[in-house]
Amino acid sequence: KKYVYLFSEGKASMRDLLGGKGANLAEMTNIGLPVPPGFTITTEACNAYYSNGENVPDGTWDQVWPALAEVEAATGKLFGDKKNPLLVSVRSGAKFSMPGMMDTVLNLGLNDDTVEALVVNTQNERFAWDCYRRFIQMFGDVVLEVEHYNFEQILETAKEKQGVHYDSELSAESLKWMVTEYKKKIERKTGKPFPMDPKVQLELAVLAVFRSWNNDRANVYRKINNIPHDIGTAVNVQSMVFGNMGSDSGTGVAFTRNPSTGEKALYGEYLMNAQGEDVVAGIRTPQPIATLAQENLEIYNQFVEISSRLESHYRDMQDIEFTIERGKLYMLQTRNGKRTASAAIRVAVELFHEGMISKEEAIMRIEPEQLDHLLHRRMDTGAKLQVLAKGLPASPGAASGKIVFSAEEAERLGEAGEKVILVRTETTPDDIRGILAAQGILTSRGGMTSHAAVVSRHMGKPAVCGCDALKIDYGQDLVVIEGVEYPAGSIFSIDGSSGRVIKGEVAMVDPELSENFKEYLDWADEIARLRVMANADTPTEATNARNFGAVGIGLTRTEHMFMDPERIPIVQEMILAQTLEEREVALAKLLPMQEGDFYGILKAMQGLSVTIRLLDPPLHEFLPHSEELIVEITKLKMTQNDPDTLHEKEALLRKVRALSELNPMLGHRGCRLGVSFPEITVMQARAIFQASARLVKEGYDIHPEVMIPLIMGKEEFLMMRKLVDDTAAEVMREQNVSLHYKVGTMIEVPRAALLADEVGKVADFFSFGTNDLTQMTMGLSRDDAQGKFLPAYLENKLMSTDPFVVLDRAGVGKLIDMAVKLGRGTNPNLGLGICGEHGGEPNSVEFCHMVGLDYVSCSPFRVPIARLAAAQAVV
Ligand code: ADP
Ligand code: MG
Ligand code: MG
Repeated sequence: KKYVYLFSEGKASMRDLLGGKGANLAEMTNIGLPVPPGFTITTEACNAYYSNGENVPDGTWDQVWPALAEVEAATGKLFGDKKNPLLVSVRSGAKFSMPGMMDTVLNLGLNDDTVEALVVNTQNERFAWDCYRRFIQMFGDVVLEVEHYNFEQILETAKEKQGVHYDSELSAESLKWMVTEYKKKIERKTGKPFPMDPKVQLELAVLAVFRSWNNDRANVYRKINNIPHDIGTAVNVQSMVFGNMGSDSGTGVAFTRNPSTGEKALYGEYLMNAQGEDVVAGIRTPQPIATLAQENLEIYNQFVEISSRLESHYRDMQDIEFTIERGKLYMLQTRNGKRTASAAIRVAVELFHEGMISKEEAIMRIEPEQLDHLLHRRMDTGAKLQVLAKGLPASPGAASGKIVFSAEEAERLGEAGEKVILVRTETTPDDIRGILAAQGILTSRGGMTSHAAVVSRHMGKPAVCGCDALKIDYGQDLVVIEGVEYPAGSIFSIDGSSGRVIKGEVAMVDPELSENFKEYLDWADEIARLRVMANADTPTEATNARNFGAVGIGLTRTEHMFMDPERIPIVQEMILAQTLEEREVALAKLLPMQEGDFYGILKAMQGLSVTIRLLDPPLHEFLPHSEELIVEITKLKMTQNDPDTLHEKEALLRKVRALSELNPMLGHRGCRLGVSFPEITVMQARAIFQASARLVKEGYDIHPEVMIPLIMGKEEFLMMRKLVDDTAAEVMREQNVSLHYKVGTMIEVPRAALLADEVGKVADFFSFGTNDLTQMTMGLSRDDAQGKFLPAYLENKLMSTDPFVVLDRAGVGKLIDMAVKLGRGTNPNLGLGICGEHGGEPNSVEFCHMVGLDYVSCSPFRVPIARLAAAQAVV
């Protein structure tokens, strides 16, 4: 089996086998870009390593050495040679990029002999020893597992001894001293001397990279990003080029477009006289890429040219790593750059206009869930702000919370439901859990391509980086800004779009869709077959939904209107009524209020359909809790000076007890209320039609649809439909207008789905209420399951996802599919939609498309997500 591919043998499409980094190094090599020669050990070798009890598969090394010989030939250097030694990097690289999560070793092949050769060949003693100390440190850390801080201490001592500030100021003497100390430290920690044989070094490094696939942070990263755990990493062995050879050398990273905003402009950072990690680790604050033009125009132009070539080659924004060795440019990596949601949209829209991709490709470029980041609230620009400091606008969005100074603390408070801002000098891949738990990230060092910035943008978290006004004191758990101390727990806000750090909470405003975003979603609508409606209970929500592109309202819950504090006493009066007359008095008071509600919503949605569901929840939800009543009654009894109120409360308690149910979810609710109290249904129907009549007279084009909840079969539906139709006829007669309306039903009881052919004959539309349908089909009470035993189901892989989040295609989905076919079979004009939470969840939206529904309805803020998901379901 072939486990080793030279860069010249691979190509971009071989990501599965070579990993993203390896495949792209091969691609760049083959389109003639300056890539240092090397080879890739495949992901299959890594997987075999794991399935083989952590042993590399037979024959791997037999393929590695000849490949290395090819690299020797191509570079004219020899691995381990005392005259002209070849040095290599050993780089991890899985199919999906996991920046910084796995390990890489640079300068491998150095030992006490080869370092001398490097001195002679480069005539640069300082440089050679700098490489050597870096190598021992990385190898010690990554391969021999001697922790980083052991080396940091020695480095600090060396700087102190020499009296300098920066690593780059260390003399050759100091570096030599460090090498000796590093080696001693390693021998003490591991019980073995540092390996001097380059072949042994290479073997150990390859194994270490395989192992790094399974380190804690890589596992967490895969979990968060839904990357499978069994695809393994490839290992790239590549000849070294040196950015640390002096002031004519350097290293950097750049995006072909701005990863925060999507603006088409080269965007990146570099450091002269530095190697690899120096830029991303945030140790020195790097220079913006534009200044490279002043430093070395020729190199800058070459880089611009290669960048745009790479972008058109890959037809996407690229994230590029490069190194300059003595004035010569080398490409070390390219990949499709991670970006914020708003940048993703702008890039997709502009790439289409530049003729690089089709609309369909543009639509597939963004994960619908990513849009969620854009639909959140932003800082109110009009608010008065107490700006404490300014850093780099590393990841857009705004966040407020308590400041904390460690990832552990962020995680702890985050889990307890607190909002926190993680404040660090810089972040490392080990902080990933804390970053996840925080509302926002604030660092005092590091640039726009620092770890904190890249990870935050990817997660859609606001971040401000490189804010050097912050003096963080981890020991005392506080930060000092311009002489003022802020202890952990102080409230800060950060604005990742402007880089501002603000004291206290800041008011937020609702998001708006950018022009790019609108255009993008219009393309989605062109492509999609499913229409997207919204669930909205008030005119404001309806207007919001319209602005987000909803083409109607799929669910208005009338009970939310009953919850208004002014109305609740009247609602209680209705519920507590002993006789029909009493109830009608209360209903008469509610009628104008409901009419007003419907008037507002129908008007806001003129030209579009509005589906109004009749009263659904069990009545006792509108009554006070019995425990509270008992407390009140006990108090009244003790004072004994208000017998009337006491009686009233006791009567209320009796009624509350009488109405309380053992299984309210399966109890007196939905159309069952209308069966017992038809006058409630009639009042609601009257409110709908009187509002409609008014609007029609005022010249509005309105489309009310009345929806009957929780039917078990056609009988209840027919009874309810008659009440609605009769009321409509009455109102039309009274008002002398003609109204067009529909009467349909929710399908949320499995029996109704089973009898969908009969129901379909008499209903105008079905709307699948998938929250209840899931509960009842699976016999799973959502409120009891989610916090309690569902997690165990997920952990034991009895379910792959929470069925209340992602529609259960196998069971509930089968029922929907069947009901769709049965219903359409008897009524070809039957309207079909879904109005549960699932209507805004991309995977479920795709399923709705597949079974042939006409529309999905979801909360207004998820409308754009559903529109995109509906389009992706077609492509
Ligand atoms: P990561 O996946 O964490 O980005 P890489 O394998 O890309 O790790 O290595 C990190 C950095 O090391 C690179 O950005 C590059 O600057 C440097 N590097 C890797 N290989 C070489 C090489 N052959 N020559 C010079 N620098 C290298
Ligand atoms: Mg890299
Ligand atoms: Mg329901």
